Amino acid sequence: MAAPSNATPGPPAGPGPVLGEHPGALAGLPLDWAALRRVLVVRPDNAGDVLMLGPALRTLRRAAPEARLDLLASPGGAAAAALLPEVSGTLVTSPSWQRAGVAPAPDPAAEHALVGLVAAGRYDAAVLFTSFSQSPWPPAYVCWLAGVPLRVGMSKEFGGALLSTWVPSPEDGVHQVDRALHLLERAGAGPADGADLRVRVPAAAVESAPHVLRAAGVDPHAPYAVVLPGASCASRRWEPARFAAACRLLADAGLTVLVVGTDGERELVEQVAGAAGPGVLALAGRLSLTELAAVLQAATVAVTNNSGGMHLADAVRAPLVALFAGTEEIGQYAPRSTSATVLNRPTACTPCRAFRCPYAHECLDIAPDQVAAAALGLAERRAA
Ligand code: SF4
Repeated sequence: MAAPSNATPGPPAGPGPVLGEHPGALAGLPLDWAALRRVLVVRPDNAGDVLMLGPALRTLRRAAPEARLDLLASPGGAAAAALLPEVSGTLVTSPSWQRAGVAPAPDPAAEHALVGLVAAGRYDAAVLFTSFSQSPWPPAYVCWLAGVPLRVGMSKEFGGALLSTWVPSPEDGVHQVDRALHLLERAGAGPADGADLRVRVPAAAVESAPHVLRAAGVDPHAPYAVVLPGASCASRRWEPARFAAACRLLADAGLTVLVVGTDGERELVEQVAGAAGPGVLALAGRLSLTELAAVLQAATVAVTNNSGGMHLADAVRAPLVALFAGTEEIGQYAPRSTSATVLNRPTACTPCRAFRCPYAHECLDIAPDQVAAAALGLAERRAA
């Protein structure tokens, strides 16, 4: 007679639906990842979001070693792809479902052109990555219309056959890196290849970045701090006058301070550097994203808002002070790969998701001397 078993019934090992999930979830499994040859990775977001996709791209590369991995990205996100060696090529677009603000008149020709662009890639599969507040169904529909046979994404809501493998979303508070890995794990792409951010800075950028610094009057071998006062929306930006005061304190402590931004951030960069005074230099529109990665890689310390620059500093392991507005939950986007000090003032209104603060920006009511002390503490630890 067989011994009585204490085992309780449960879900089978490996990917598949679990009790309480929609019966349509994970219906397309199992996927033969290793057989894929042309995969479209969809993440048409900002550069920081693409950098946070790095661990998922490494995992995909391991699961589908023979596949070409193309990234459908926004113009800003595509620039970050140059730092991720797993990406074979980019399809650059600004899709309608990613536009914020007042909707313009529909442009069917643009939508058809996007479908044509995807169809021309003859992809075996599309993997659709989204943040907790985004839906995979619009890009899934584009891929469906483009004839992509496998469409893998995650959602809380049902969207019919548009996803061939529909993975239920994790909890909203999960970090964006882990959220992307959750999709791959539940879709059977195997274990993650680490969850830390990593980039490969192109040799050309490592070579050209010091020339850019010298042309700006900076000795690339002297200790320097990189300050990035920009962010994608006003509610995430610490006050320029406070940035300037923190820069002054860092310069007085003996660091050369580089205030860096894109050409579009020129006014902000010059305002901060100009108010800070001697030893603080404005570098707006002078460095490409790959050169900025090289500059950050050699920096003594970086000071940023919650921005793409924060994720880039994290990925190149620059000691980092991050001024983190209450617009988002810190746990969803926090730096995780470098020595970092995250500064934030808890408020009842967080997470507000606002582009502009309707109050007095209490969540970033942080004194410049606190920021400078945190930065100098990290710089000392790095030197030690
Ligand atoms: S103070 Fe509140 S509303 Fe204003 S940006 Fe911060 S979290 Fe948002």
